[in-house]
Amino acid sequence: PIGSGPLSVELSDVSFSYEGAEGKPTLRQLDFRLAPGEVLGLLGRTGSGKSTLARLLLRFYDPQQGAIRLGGTDIRDAKVSELRSRVAMVTQSIEIMEGTVRDNLTFYDEQISDARIAEVLDDLGLGSWYASLPQGLDTMLASGGGGLSAGEAQLLAFARVFLSDPGLIIMDEASSRLDPLTEQRIERATQKLLEARTCIIIAHRLATVQRADRILVLEDGEIVEEGLRAAL
Ligand code: ATP
Ligand code: MG
Repeated sequence: PIGSGPLSVELSDVSFSYEGAEGKPTLRQLDFRLAPGEVLGLLGRTGSGKSTLARLLLRFYDPQQGAIRLGGTDIRDAKVSELRSRVAMVTQSIEIMEGTVRDNLTFYDEQISDARIAEVLDDLGLGSWYASLPQGLDTMLASGGGGLSAGEAQLLAFARVFLSDPGLIIMDEASSRLDPLTEQRIERATQKLLEARTCIIIAHRLATVQRADRILVLEDGEIVEEGLRAAL
């Protein structure tokens, strides 16, 4: 099983090609290690393989070569359900399912109390949104999240992550800009998420990279630069 608390991440000689793709592999001989609690800024041009790397960490695909270890465990030796409960992905498009606000935030984890949910929503600046819900946490959301603003949807994605308390967070930052107030809330939420958690941030903003301990630059599926932020 994958350990508890912040997870170390280790890639050893990982190469990956999408099925049927010709030419050079999409990711080539990636080798790097993150200590528990470290924040990695992952940079690279469009198509360089950043999201592909994220998908491998969640085992949407397995690499043809090399190994990925989280908390010292080869992810092929862990249950996919366990892996996905320990690794959270925050993307720009949150998937809202048809169901209550509570179920959308907890994924039916009954250990999470309503008080805790309210606290997290408050922390994220969603207190007045929450207060306006006609049936509180029992309010139904439509599949796809119709009725939510882009900013609210993004903040709900953060709320999910705070409530599930994973050992590794992968953030695929929004490259499009939100309104300044939402930006500010997301900025603050991101800051909080980074405390004492291992995090890989696919960065489009300079502000985010400034918070990373370590930077990795991908070019055409290969690591072309790696180091401590201070050194680059
Ligand atoms: P962006 O900054 O635009 O999000 P990225 O660095 O995340 O780019 P990836 O999405 O990882 O890039 O794509 C890396 C390469 O793999 C690209 O050449 C892309 O066309 C290809 N690719 C991505 N998804 C698939 C897929 N499902 N099947 C085949 N090829 C894919
Ligand atoms: Mg991408």
